[in-house]
Amino acid sequence: MKLPYIEPYKTKVVEPVNLSTPKERAAWIREAGYNLFNLRSDQVIIDLLTDSGTGAMSDTQWSEIMLGDESYAGASSYYKLKSAVTDITGFEFFLPVHQGRAAENVLFSLLVKEGDIVPGNSHFDTTKGHIEFRKALAIDCTIDEAGDTSANHPFKGNVDLRKLERVIDKNGTGKIPFILLTITNNTAGGQPVSMKNMRELKEMADSYGIPLVFDSARFAENAAFIKMREKGYENSSISEIVRETFSLADAMTMSSKKDAIVNMGGFIAMKSEELYNKASIFNIMFEGYITYGGMSGRDMNALAAGLYEGTEERYLISRLRQVEYLGSKLKEAGVTVQEPFGGHAIFIDATGFLREVPREQFPAQTLAIEAYTEGGVRGVEIGALLADRDPVTRKNRYPKLELLRLAIPRRVYSSSHMDYVAAVFANISERRDSIKKGFRIVKEAPIMRHFTVGLERV
Ligand SMILES: *Cc1c(COP(=O)(O)O)cnc(C)c1O
Repeated sequence: MKLPYIEPYKTKVVEPVNLSTPKERAAWIREAGYNLFNLRSDQVIIDLLTDSGTGAMSDTQWSEIMLGDESYAGASSYYKLKSAVTDITGFEFFLPVHQGRAAENVLFSLLVKEGDIVPGNSHFDTTKGHIEFRKALAIDCTIDEAGDTSANHPFKGNVDLRKLERVIDKNGTGKIPFILLTITNNTAGGQPVSMKNMRELKEMADSYGIPLVFDSARFAENAAFIKMREKGYENSSISEIVRETFSLADAMTMSSKKDAIVNMGGFIAMKSEELYNKASIFNIMFEGYITYGGMSGRDMNALAAGLYEGTEERYLISRLRQVEYLGSKLKEAGVTVQEPFGGHAIFIDATGFLREVPREQFPAQTLAIEAYTEGGVRGVEIGALLADRDPVTRKNRYPKLELLRLAIPRRVYSSSHMDYVAAVFANISERRDSIKKGFRIVKEAPIMRHFTVGLERV
C-alpha cells in the first residue's frame, strides 16, 4: 500500500476553538450587521477570512524570538535576515519594512510619479492603491483565461505579452517606471505564473529598457506550482526555482505575512546599489532606520527562519495538497469552484451555487452568511460588495465573477477541519434552491465599503 501524504510537522501548542451553536451564530451575525468583518474571532469556528499573518510559527521560529537583538543600529537580527534574503532570493541589497504595503509605499515613493503607467498581471488592491494615490495608473494585462473559472490553464496568473506590448507602445517607455509582476497572482485566485512567461516578460522588458519588479508575497507557492506543472522543472529544487525566478527581477516587494509564515513583516530587495541608497531615504522616513525598518529584532529573526521553512519542498507540497483537498471535497458536494485550484484559497462561484438570489442582493455575501450560520466558517466575499460603486456614476459595479473566497492559513488547520468545511457547504447545497433572498445595504462608507458595510435581509 502506498503510504498517504502527511504534513511534515506535528502540534506542540494548541489554541482552543470556541464551538458555538447555529442559534448563537444567527444572533451574532445579526448584531454584526451581517458583515463578517464585525465578528469577534471567538464567534468563529474555522476562520478562512485570509491567509495573511494567520500562519502558525514553528518551534524554531519561537526560539528565534528569544534570540532577537533589539539594538537600534546594526542588530545581529538584521544581519541574520539579510543573509537569509540574499541566500534565498539572490538579491544583494535589502530593506526591512513592517509589511507588504509599506514596501510598496517606500519603493513607489521613489519610482512612481503623477501620470505614470504601471502595467502587470492583476495588481493587488493595496498595490493598486499606492499607484493610484500617486495619480498614476495600474493596467492589468493578465491572460483572458484568468477570468473564466472553468478554463483549464496551468498558469492562469500569466501576463498576456501582446496586451502588455500594446500598453507600452501606446504610452511610450518614458511613462512606465517599471512592470509589476505578482506571484502568485492573488487577485486572479492565487494562480501561478510560469517560468516561461517570466522569462519572456524579462526579454520584453529588457528590449524596451523597462525595469521589472516582482510583488512576491507567494513566491514559494509559485515555485512549487512550477515544479509540479511546468515541463523541465520536475527535477529542480524549490530553491533553484526561486533563485531563477528572482534572477529575472530588478527588485522585489514582499509581504512576509504570506509565504514567510510570520504574523507581521515585510521587505524590499534589489540588485542595484543606487536604487537601495535612494530607497533607504524613504525607508528611514516612513519605516525606521535601515537595519530594522518597522520590525523588532525578534520579528526579523522569526522571519529569517520562516523564509527557509516556507521554501521547504515537503511543506509546500503539503500546503498545496491541503488547498486541493478542500477544493475536491467541495466539488464532490456539488459546489462550483474555480479550477485549477489556486495556491492559498478556494474560490466558490456564488451565482452558480445560489441560483435564486438576484445579483443586486449579493449572492456571495449571502453564501458567506449561510456558511457562517451553518457551521461558523468565515470566508470573504469577492463580488459586488467588494467591487463598490462606480466613482463617477455612484452606481453599484457588478464584476464578471461573484465569488466567496475560503483562504487557508498556513500550518493551522487539519484535514478534519477541511472535512468539516466541506460538510457545511454540502448541507447548504441540499437546501440551496430554497434560498431565494439575499441582503440589501443599510449603511455604507464612500470607499472600501466592504469593511464597514451594514446589511439587512431582503
Ligand atoms: C498581502 C499582499 C500585499 C500587501 O501586503 P500586506 O502585508 O498586507 O501589507 C501586496 N501584494 C500581494 C500580492 C499581497 O498578497
